[in-house]
Amino acid sequence: MPVNGLPPYDTTNIFARILKGEIPCRKVLETEHALAFHDIAPQAPTHILIIPKGSYVSASDFSTQASAEEVAGLWRAVAEVAKPLEATGYRIICNMGMDSGQEVPHFHVHVLGGRPLGVMVAKQG
Ligand code: AMP
Repeated sequence: MPVNGLPPYDTTNIFARILKGEIPCRKVLETEHALAFHDIAPQAPTHILIIPKGSYVSASDFSTQASAEEVAGLWRAVAEVAKPLEATGYRIICNMGMDSGQEVPHFHVHVLGGRPLGVMVAKQG
């Protein structure tokens, strides 16, 4: 049964394979509960993805199913990788399901910065 427009967790998704070491990544940080690495197609001078090590398909899945330690661990890792951007600011994005255009069905947080990032959401038309 799809949850929030997403199918159940697929253990062969690309981020699961990165976690298993089957596919390389440009690692920024690894902690007990999270892995951070550079986005393969950066949309800003800094574009880092932070993912939980557990198998969560989406922001909603992670927020409702992960333990308090996993949730804290993920967000502390986000804060850690974003530290160099604090002086100028940055944007955090979590795409969630179909309308957001979420491509990879393993929950991830985008940290973007290093230039003025413009409007938050593209206008229609
Ligand atoms: P989303 O649309 O929120 O699911 O974002 C998925 C992101 O993962 C995109 O920004 C992709 O560029 C990025 N991505 C896909 N494959 C890889 C990979 N092998 N290593 C790093 N980033 C990736």
